[in-house]
Amino acid sequence: MEKILEVRNLNVSFHTYAGEVKAVRGVSFDLNRGESLAIVGESGCGKTVTAKSIMRLLKEPPTEIKEGSQIIFNGTEDVTRMSKKRLKSFRGADVSMIFQDPMTSLNPTMTIGKQIMEALIIHKGMKKDEAKKEAIELLRTVNIPNPEERINNYPHQLSGGMRQRVMIAMAISCNPKILIADEPTTALDVTIQAQIMDLLNELKHTFNTAIILITHDLGVVANFADKVQVMYAGEIVERGTREEIFYKSMHPYTWALLNSVPRLDTESKEQLYALGGTPPDLILPLQGCAFSSRCEYAMEICLERKPIETQLSTTHSLSCWLQHPNAPKVNRSEVVRG
Ligand code: SF4
Repeated sequence: MEKILEVRNLNVSFHTYAGEVKAVRGVSFDLNRGESLAIVGESGCGKTVTAKSIMRLLKEPPTEIKEGSQIIFNGTEDVTRMSKKRLKSFRGADVSMIFQDPMTSLNPTMTIGKQIMEALIIHKGMKKDEAKKEAIELLRTVNIPNPEERINNYPHQLSGGMRQRVMIAMAISCNPKILIADEPTTALDVTIQAQIMDLLNELKHTFNTAIILITHDLGVVANFADKVQVMYAGEIVERGTREEIFYKSMHPYTWALLNSVPRLDTESKEQLYALGGTPPDLILPLQGCAFSSRCEYAMEICLERKPIETQLSTTHSLSCWLQHPNAPKVNRSEVVRG
């Protein structure tokens, strides 16, 4: 498969009055053409910062993509070194992004037609009439009914699901090679969520677009992602195919995320699992495993040494001392912190 994106040793910090927040630490991954990757984790784990770094959407400063980080697009260009001029065409034409709340991304004073046409005129150099026809086609592609009439609607005249479809239409208007969807269904109700995920899947297959889905909810990726990366405290703690993460996961944090997904195939009336504690302060130096204060399997070594990545298959790896073959012998039944 052809690689469209190679992220290598990505380190991103925020410079604040309180100190340097190391929000993303040593993240590396590949994305192939037409592949869907889900980056999963709770708020503050670095998933959105990673996604925004790919588009260089973070304000620099106070954000800093650290020296040594590489984001290689299409095998040749390093996004971290792109000129401002190149970034303008890169965003939209090569990579585009949809956000959680379309109401804050759409201009409330412009019809949705004008907003889609604007992208086509700027990025594809289309004439007004041509752009209007294309905008109607795009609305049809994302399953907006009566697109010839809807094109004249303002965002407030559409439902939340329809607004998100309009955002997707805008995002795919220039046939980007990568589409980043940051919590695209969080503001929508469950049936609409499923429709939006189906639509993204359809677009992936029709246009061979690679999709990065950012979400805190593993349930959303169950029928979508080819591969999944779980992030915690700015690092990838487990990665694998969808099957490996859902059926063979080995990291206690992934287990916690899986346990907190509501299930319909059980009659159990038990309360949903909630992971206790909070993630570490990323201003302070971290010692040992960043998850140790919340992990019920934590051992002595977890408090002292950062876990080394263990490869379980060509696609499945994780950073946890429980699985490392060279981990010093410890009594695993002894829970250091509960
Ligand atoms: Fe838990 Fe230790 Fe694994 Fe970290 S390394 S997840 S603390 S068992």
